[in-house]
Amino acid sequence: MKVAKFGGSSVANAEQIKKVCSIITADPERRLVVVSAPGKRDAGDIKVTDLLIDCAQQYLKNKSARKELDAVVLRYADIAKDLGLSDEIVEIIRTDLEKRLEADINNPDKLMDTLKAAGEDNCAKLVAEYLCKLGFKAQYINPKDAGLLLSSEYGNAQVLSESYDNLRSLRDQEGIMVFPGFFGYTKEGEVVTFPRGGSDITGSILAAAIDAELYENFTDVDSVFVANPNIIPNPQAISQLTFREMRELAYAGFTVLQSESLSPVFRAGIPVCIKNTNNSSAPGTMIVPTNMLDETSDPDIGPVAGIASDDGFCSINVSKFLMNREIGFGRKLFNILEDEDLSYEHTPSGIDNISVILDQKQLTPDIEKRVIDRITNELKVDDIAVERNLALIIIVGEGMNHTIGIAARATTALANAKVNIEMINQGSSEISMMFGVKSDDTINAVRALYNEFFKATTK
Ligand code: ASP
Repeated sequence: MKVAKFGGSSVANAEQIKKVCSIITADPERRLVVVSAPGKRDAGDIKVTDLLIDCAQQYLKNKSARKELDAVVLRYADIAKDLGLSDEIVEIIRTDLEKRLEADINNPDKLMDTLKAAGEDNCAKLVAEYLCKLGFKAQYINPKDAGLLLSSEYGNAQVLSESYDNLRSLRDQEGIMVFPGFFGYTKEGEVVTFPRGGSDITGSILAAAIDAELYENFTDVDSVFVANPNIIPNPQAISQLTFREMRELAYAGFTVLQSESLSPVFRAGIPVCIKNTNNSSAPGTMIVPTNMLDETSDPDIGPVAGIASDDGFCSINVSKFLMNREIGFGRKLFNILEDEDLSYEHTPSGIDNISVILDQKQLTPDIEKRVIDRITNELKVDDIAVERNLALIIIVGEGMNHTIGIAARATTALANAKVNIEMINQGSSEISMMFGVKSDDTINAVRALYNEFFKATTK
């Protein structure tokens, strides 16, 4: 049995849903289907999830959101009409949305999640209905009945371990099951959503729970590319990646998969295939456990599998003479960050200095002042400075850890492109190397690394 997840652009309108249904029904193993909420139909369009967020915000402000609610219903009504479904289902969707707005207004986060979840929930009902209309045995699955239990963190929920046992019984169901992505229920029965893009997480949990042979993730690109196509025109496609490579690339800007979504399938050792709904015969990109890597599949790919970049980071640079001899220095520094609820990304260090790289959104002026004062006074440092607007450029590849000279090639390429490297970090797994550069240098840096590691090998 395969789990097939379809993203927002795959269910954006009736034409797309028809493609989705022909993909599902072309393979009898595709029995557990996860859908997102309808996404953008064109570049200027708004995703249903964003319309729902707008609707919830209006309702919380004015206790009424008629116009916003109508905009959501209209999206579904257009789809239902073009799929030839009855008006009745549109009325069911309208009533469902109105009922969600009756949730407790004193708990805005709860109301928001209840509304956000409606996007995928109603989409799953439409897709199931359309499959039935086509004559297939299909049913909508309610995540509550199926036992998808999540932590009570609105907008940021995590799966509870008992969900896996509960969901396993989906294996015994017959026909095609259409499961809404992005949300589940707390033990108290409240609707709660994953972070944005969370339908990928639902698909991954289901694949792990039913021990699927494959988790297919259908999106709107033929494959994962070695670099961002907005920076590098027509970059090389990747036919396979390991989970570790994909995790590093997703973390640093590859948006093709939600970055947390791989964990359940990774732990269960279930391969993932990224495929294109608009070109389903293209082979796509396989993401596999390291021991399932087919060494022969990409003869053109060298030690580096991909280059990712992301910006919006800052660095707190701390130095103190003889820091290396001071027992507890690191712990005290990290305690201060923990007290301020700051999470960090990397900590490159030297003998007498350490830099902590953070997502700069976290470092508001107030927090910055407090952190600097505390580090200065409590750790008696010689120097402390905050550097903002940094980008992280990451080169990733399983082959990097047994290839000599990768760092030399990368730094030479960056130097030739006149990119100043602010910091370098390599994790112990040696499958990735991070370069911190000024945000303004991002494009030059990615191009330089692409030319160094890929251009020469592109057919
Ligand atoms: N519809 C949700 C979002 O836009 C979840 C998803 O599409 O995966 O974030």
